[in-house]
Amino acid sequence: MFTSQEISEIKKLLTPDRRIVIVTHYNPDGDAIGSSLGLKHFLSQNGVDADVIVPNDFPKFLKWMPGAKKIIIADYKRKVAGEAIYNADLIFILDFNASHRSGNLVGPWLDKARAVKILIDHHQQPDDFDYIYSDVSVPATSQMICHFIEALGREDLINKDIADCLYTGIMTDTGGFRFRSTSATTHRIVANLIEKGADPAMISSNTLDTNTVSRLHLLALILGRIEVVKDGKVAILWLKRDELKEFGFQKGDTEGFVNYGLSIMGTRVAAFFMEDLYDDFIKISFRSKDDVDVNSFSRRYFNGGGHINAAGGKYYKTIEGTIEDFKEKIEGEDF
Ligand code: 5GP
Ligand code: MN
Repeated sequence: MFTSQEISEIKKLLTPDRRIVIVTHYNPDGDAIGSSLGLKHFLSQNGVDADVIVPNDFPKFLKWMPGAKKIIIADYKRKVAGEAIYNADLIFILDFNASHRSGNLVGPWLDKARAVKILIDHHQQPDDFDYIYSDVSVPATSQMICHFIEALGREDLINKDIADCLYTGIMTDTGGFRFRSTSATTHRIVANLIEKGADPAMISSNTLDTNTVSRLHLLALILGRIEVVKDGKVAILWLKRDELKEFGFQKGDTEGFVNYGLSIMGTRVAAFFMEDLYDDFIKISFRSKDDVDVNSFSRRYFNGGGHINAAGGKYYKTIEGTIEDFKEKIEGEDF
């Protein structure tokens, strides 16, 4: 958490006359959108306006969230987003640890912005910002927003909109309260959010029961050819661009697919390789169990990073070449 000195400085920065922007990472997920909108609604309760800017579009299953329609998507509104970041007095950097993680467009804007920058994030090895609240032991940035609100002493301001957004972020980033860093504190916070009006049945139905037929067909395709290597410890899944096109792929359609690899008895690591729809690279998702560290594995070999048990990466070969290199790299690993 920020020191009490920092909290009092931050309090002084949260005034209606300041231009405040909240930015999150490229390909925003439930936690990115949940923490950003949760913070926006909280600031609004304090009489302070803030713009949420995301680098690119976010999945349909998050569009129901209160305030989602007001989010500025930099890919579609370059001028508005660029000017807002350029003119900002204060920028909250949520759910990512380094400006390049917000993409080629927004990343350089953040580097140039003269605003005071406040980072709240749970990824490893954050870059330097004016104020940093970084904690890798917290399962979701949305939970950190709750701790931040507590530190400001304003839990009384949490309303239903804030609670619904923060609950969504915590639910999605903990895989439905299942992943390792889900703690008693997480459950206490979630209980508190429910008391403040968060609606678990509505949220999970809106966020999770959103399969499209095309997504299920894609899932059937990749489950049908899942490969298990390294004595059953590593599961490999993959998708090609032509297949994405054939099934009418939409953003978010492959969300969570990698977890099926990890659900196989005995697997320690799951890797999902997907050709990018537009550019010539392979987007990789890694998931792991227990102390198998896919963050460091991805940093070392696949130009990525993330968390110990959930990381991503990028690779600039064909999908066949990427999977071949992956198989070679895991031979040297002690999974
Ligand atoms: P996902 O597999 O869901 O895309 O990403 C899993 C985790 O890894 C997320 O927390 C995400 O922030 C992180 N991550 C994904 N791709 C990259 C990447 O290319 N670089 C880094 N540093 N982290 C990534
Ligand atoms: Mn997160």
